Amino acid sequence: MQAIAVRPGQANSVHLAELPKPKVSDVPNGRGVLVRVLKVGVDATDREINDALYGNAPPGYDFLVLGHESFGIVEAIGPSVKHVKPGDYVTCTVRRPGTSIYDRIGRSDITSEETYFERGINLLHGYLTEHFVDDAEFVVKMPVGLKHLHVLAEPMSCAAKAVQQAFEAQKRLQVWGPKLAFVTGAGQIGLLSTLILRLRGLEVYTFARGAAPCLKAEIVAGMGANYISTKDQSLKEVAARAGKPDLIIEATGSSAIAFETMEVLGHNGVEVWTSITGGQRRVDVPSDNVNLNWVLGNKLLLGSVNANYRHFEIGIADLALGEVTYPHVIERILTTPVAGIQNYKEMMRLLVEDKDALKVYVNVAEG
Ligand code: BGC
Ligand code: ZN
Repeated sequence: MQAIAVRPGQANSVHLAELPKPKVSDVPNGRGVLVRVLKVGVDATDREINDALYGNAPPGYDFLVLGHESFGIVEAIGPSVKHVKPGDYVTCTVRRPGTSIYDRIGRSDITSEETYFERGINLLHGYLTEHFVDDAEFVVKMPVGLKHLHVLAEPMSCAAKAVQQAFEAQKRLQVWGPKLAFVTGAGQIGLLSTLILRLRGLEVYTFARGAAPCLKAEIVAGMGANYISTKDQSLKEVAARAGKPDLIIEATGSSAIAFETMEVLGHNGVEVWTSITGGQRRVDVPSDNVNLNWVLGNKLLLGSVNANYRHFEIGIADLALGEVTYPHVIERILTTPVAGIQNYKEMMRLLVEDKDALKVYVNVAEG
C-alpha cells in the first residue's frame, strides 16, 4: 500500500512510503475495524510536521505516515464489533491512550503525560494511505447524509471540545448565560466554532485578516454571524460598539493575538485557546492591566487540544444541525481537493502556498 510520509526532524521530507495492508486481526479480541480510506484532510499541523517543527516516527520506523483527519468506508470487522458494519462511513479519533488515570477513563485528550500518541502526528502512523485498521473504540460512525462533509469531522471534534469545555468550566458561575462571543481566526477551527456558537443561540463576531468580500466572510455571514476584517476594525473597536464578549474562542495560530484577545473579554467571561504555536515568538503585553482586569472580572482562560470519542459525536450532531439550519454553507469550507496519494507534492504545495485554500484534502479513493 502507498502512503504519504515524512522523515520527522528532516524539513521538507514529504515522500511516498510503502506499508503492508493491515488486517482486522491486527487488533486483538475481535475488536478490529478495517477501513478503506476515501478522503484525508491536512492542516497546519501537517505543514509543521513537514517543516520538522513537530512530530515523531513510530518506534522502529524512520518515517511517519501523515494525516489525522480521516474519512472512509468500513471493509471488514472483527467478531466483537457491534456499532459499525461493512459499508458504513466512518471517521476515527486521533489520540491513543497512554497510562495516566485520564487515559484509562477514555480521556486521552486530557492525558497528564508529557508524551502523547497521535495517529499521523506523534509516534503512530496516520491515515494518508489506502487502508487502516483500528480498535472499534476509536472508530466513529458518520451518518450517510453527512458524507459530503467527510474530513471535517475531526476539526469539528476539536471545536466541539473547545466550546464544550468552556460551558463545562463556567458551571463555576451557577447562572452563566452567554450571549455574545468573539471568535478570532477564520480557519477551519474558527469557522466551525462560529457554527457551534450560532447553533447555541449566541451573537458571534468572527475576526480574520482578509478584507470582505471573501469566502470566509461569506461563510461567516451564511452562519448568521458577523465577519470582521482586522484591517477595518480592531477587537477593541468592536468590543466598544457591540460589548465585551462572554466567550472567546481563539484560533488564529498567533500567540500575539491570543494575548491581545485577553484585553477584551467581559466580566465572568471564559476564553479558550486552541492555537498550536510551534515557534519562538515573544510579545510585549500590558500585563498590569490584563492582570487587574482578569482578577476584578473573575475571568477564566483555558487551553483545549484534541478531542475524544464523545466530542466527535457532539461535533457530528452539530454538523447535522448546522446543515439543516444553514443549508450548503459548511461544505464551502472544503475548498481544495487533491487527486490521489501520488499527488503528495501538490498536496504540500497547496497547504503551504495557496492562501485561498481553506481546506486541503486528498481524494484517496472513490466510494
Ligand atoms: C489535531 C489534534 C491534535 C493536535 C496536536 C491538531 O492538528 O487536529 O487532534 O491533538 O493537532 O497534535
Ligand atoms: Zn488537526
